[in-house]
Amino acid sequence: MSLEKTALVIGGGPSGLMAAEQLALAKLKVTLVEAKAAVGRKFLMAGKSGLNLTKNEDFESFLNAFYESKSSLELILQNFGPNQVMQWADELEAKVFTGSTKRVFPEAMKASPLLRTWLTRLIRSNVDFKTNWRWIRFGKDSFSFDTPQGPKSISPNVCVLAMGGASWSKLGSDGAWTASLADAGISLTPFGAANAALDINWSEHMKRFFGTPLKSVCFKVDKKSIRGEAVISSKGLEGSGVYSINRDLRQGGELSLDILPDWSQKKIINALKRPKGKQSLNNFLRKVLRLDPLKQSLLREFCSKLPPEPAVLAKLLKSLPLHYVRLRPLDEAISTSGGVAFSELDERLMLKRKPGVFCAGEMIDWEAPTGGYLITASLATGAWAGQYAAKFALEGTADSP
Ligand SMILES: Cc1cc2nc3c(=O)[nH]c(=O)nc-3n(C[C@H](O)[C@H](O)[C@H](O)COP(=O)(O)OP(=O)(O)OC[C@H]3O[C@@H](n4cnc5c(N)ncnc54)[C@H](O)[C@@H]3O)c2cc1C
Repeated sequence: MSLEKTALVIGGGPSGLMAAEQLALAKLKVTLVEAKAAVGRKFLMAGKSGLNLTKNEDFESFLNAFYESKSSLELILQNFGPNQVMQWADELEAKVFTGSTKRVFPEAMKASPLLRTWLTRLIRSNVDFKTNWRWIRFGKDSFSFDTPQGPKSISPNVCVLAMGGASWSKLGSDGAWTASLADAGISLTPFGAANAALDINWSEHMKRFFGTPLKSVCFKVDKKSIRGEAVISSKGLEGSGVYSINRDLRQGGELSLDILPDWSQKKIINALKRPKGKQSLNNFLRKVLRLDPLKQSLLREFCSKLPPEPAVLAKLLKSLPLHYVRLRPLDEAISTSGGVAFSELDERLMLKRKPGVFCAGEMIDWEAPTGGYLITASLATGAWAGQYAAKFALEGTADSP
């Protein structure tokens, strides 16, 4: 009898696919609609440099990665957190391993084998996929689409919106859905670049370092100091160390670099007081501080005339002002902050203004650094929205958790 209940999922990223699976498991008749010619394009891109599915760390540390959204996500991540992600991957024949930084990857490193197995399982569960269908607006109890066959509309019992954030628009996540949600009176937080590179106008002498990793440094914004890595690129500086302080930079913090994080200022001063003799400054710094050519060049890039006094130079080495132009544009960011405000959603992730319509994934206003948090939260919100949408369809106004 429950087969008569219908569910619509809009968006075929990890959150939408997970919502569709939960709805199908609850025996609803599920249609998944995707604007692009194929689902999971950003998920496949995520696998290009190693698909980091989750982080194998204690729950409190995991939850803390979500800044102020952690209270809204706590139950959702308890329901489907790192352990469930690893089990889910395992069930999809994607054997995972935990790397030295607790990041979890499938052994194949890429997303395609896992996605293929997942889609086969979803098709077997009778999920009906409609690609090249773009959701345009809410109708009265219906959802309107532009399709290759012209305008269409669907009137399901429940719907999960899972249209992603607003970066890498060529892969489908273009944030165009915001206009239709705003028209429906739903409050949205403006998008911001999260996990974006820094735009830096490098001078000529830095070109030889393009592609070189910058290791053993601390990125400092105001009082926060995060040890991390980054890569020097033609556009600027990219990598997890930079991404982890994106949010502080968006809030206007001043960025500096501790290029000798394992050395105290006192130890640096003592080393700099050693006799320099006839050595060049480069050689001297290399010998007494083990400062490699990249760090020496960075020092000169951001301070054209090095101060001769050991105490002043030591201070500079511990806090080198890093002049950047801006964060790279939104469309280049790995993820975006902003989207549907949690205040618009109830505990089930259902839109308060649209009973029966739920939200999942990156289109909700949460953010986190890289490290597997993004895919885990997308899967977790997809599972949650799917489970509660199924309850809503089958039991009417299902209770909140
Ligand atoms: C280069 C790169 C590397 C990454 N690496 C990692 C990583 O290693 N680990 C990690 O955790 N995260 C990573 N991410 C982030 C991760 O891919 C995303 O957070 C995740 O895909 C978000 O899932 P989602 O389902 O919410 O949205 P998306 O994956 O963005 O899917 C949304 C879907 O909705 C569709 N859509 C949009 N509008 C409409 C519409 N109007 N009608 C119909 N369909 C629509 C889109 O075409 C898209 O298929 C990476 C991202 C990038 C760009």
